[in-house]
Amino acid sequence: MSDTELLRAAGILDDKGDYWIRQSQLTEFVRCPERFRLHVLHPENAIEGDEAFMGTADHAAAEMLLDGDIRLEDLADAVTAIVYDMLQADEPRWNAFKNGAEMAEQARRCIVAWGRDIYPKVPLVGVTEVDFAFQAGIHQGRRYGFRGCVDYPTHYGIYDWKFPAKVYKRWEKQKYDLQASIYTAAGVAGALPFEYDWPASFTFGITTRQDEPKGELVSVTRTYNHYEWVKHHAKVLIDMIVTMGMERPWPLRQEDWLCSAKWCGNYHECRGLFITPADDQ
Ligand code: SF4
Repeated sequence: MSDTELLRAAGILDDKGDYWIRQSQLTEFVRCPERFRLHVLHPENAIEGDEAFMGTADHAAAEMLLDGDIRLEDLADAVTAIVYDMLQADEPRWNAFKNGAEMAEQARRCIVAWGRDIYPKVPLVGVTEVDFAFQAGIHQGRRYGFRGCVDYPTHYGIYDWKFPAKVYKRWEKQKYDLQASIYTAAGVAGALPFEYDWPASFTFGITTRQDEPKGELVSVTRTYNHYEWVKHHAKVLIDMIVTMGMERPWPLRQEDWLCSAKWCGNYHECRGLFITPADDQ
């Protein structure tokens, strides 16, 4: 396939020649440029890990509650059914759990904690799962914009649910998080059901994946400067596409813990071609 065909298949280039970058793609590019390139080349390598799979199930149950389709006390049963339905359709990459039963149990613990610790603190005046797309500017003679899906925009700010293994440090999210910058920019650009101005608030509803999960809200603030910084990243990504093309390897970031056979679906196309497990001992 030509570069244009590859980028179209990945949803990055549209028929008019405009670039569209998803938040997850930009985040991946910033963590490891080569990982982004290999995912465009080999979308089949992007098998969802079991933790993300579990998070998807918990998101779906939270959405059902926020939409009024189930009651708070139904959350545990709902997420169990969702996990098993998902497993019927797809097999995740098993990293954290031994099997579906273990995953379903952790999903149940997490959603119960979400219902207990987070749901009561969220203003129930939002809309669930809002897809957005907005133009950000022109670069290399072409328009570019951002795409994504917000979990729960409300009149009072934007909420996103996370089910990570570790507690989030607020200072890290305030300093580095690109998702918060893109999603608040979508709100300021009028691409969400509610209007926002800079500075805008973005809140992570975090439920840590533990034996006894706890939920907490972690809010960060985003300004126009954060948006300009995100746009700078997007322009660098477009420059890489235009100048390097998709055939030759892009810069590698092997220091990140994601650079492993367990966490990088492209490992066997990249570091795994050179380094064996014995070499890392
Ligand atoms: S193996 Fe490491 S360097 Fe290669 S794409 Fe994956 S994360 Fe990047």
